Amino acid sequence: MKDPFDFSGKVVLVTGSSRGIGAKMIKAFGKRSAQCVVNYVVDPAGQNKSDAESVANELKDPLVIECDVTKPEQVESMMKQIQDRHGGLDILVNNSGIIHDRTIKKMSMDEFESVVRVNLTGTFNVTQKAVSVLRSGGRIVNLSSVSGQMGLFGQANYSSSKAAIIALTKVSAREFARQGIIVNAIAPGFIDVGMSKGMPEEVTQNFIKQIPLGRLGDVREIVNAALFLASPMASYITGHVLNVNGGFYMG
Ligand code: NDP
Repeated sequence: MKDPFDFSGKVVLVTGSSRGIGAKMIKAFGKRSAQCVVNYVVDPAGQNKSDAESVANELKDPLVIECDVTKPEQVESMMKQIQDRHGGLDILVNNSGIIHDRTIKKMSMDEFESVVRVNLTGTFNVTQKAVSVLRSGGRIVNLSSVSGQMGLFGQANYSSSKAAIIALTKVSAREFARQGIIVNAIAPGFIDVGMSKGMPEEVTQNFIKQIPLGRLGDVREIVNAALFLASPMASYITGHVLNVNGGFYMG
């Protein structure tokens, strides 16, 4: 029997794979023989591009695509490049995301909308454009968050976007089932890379006290969840939200 975590012949796109969880994820798929598409968004200093290129250096024949997930025409062009190079897509991980915390009283409309635009509208946009290139048997894995399940202080924008991603995951699972595409979400707790690294030490320690397993999550634990949901082992799971949070929230 073929190793279920051998992704040879599968084309994988992880949005926002220039750093953080996304970078580790695309490298893990690459290590398991997938054909990888790395995505980054342009910044004036060119840092994201060089981060994406250093991720790509560890992959075999990667496609590296600059694309802002909030821009429909850029997402369309990304899908066209994938179609032209590989003839289709098998696994999409909607990982791109941003954070901008502020209490509701102080949050500007722009701070609210910009986070929703990248996290939620971006996920919708990429999903919508990917569906025409996703092959039958395809997988979509969306990154939600424990914040979307519990609603965390100071995260009206982020929590709302991540809660809506859960609803979008369920709608997508229903609508794409007829195409043989299954759609699930991962809801990470506090992970040792990326966004959670920006929290003050005192806040981190306070959260750790409330996590039954008593520690932050290792990025590999999120990567493993994505590998599982993208693998044949998850073939009868769709519309599910997989908590990877050390027991912080049990829903
Ligand atoms: P990072 O901030 O390290 O990475 C975010 C990624 O998203 C970057 O690669 C960034 O690209 C990309 N991105 C941002 N805006 C856009 C855009 N408009 N278009 C395309 N890409 C974009 O975050 P994490 O790795 O921590 O988070 C990854 C996902 O996991 C997010 O969805 C996050 O909400 C979720 N998550 C993370 C948790 C954690 O503890 N780390 C906990 C729960 C959920 P670039 O580098 O090019 O700017």
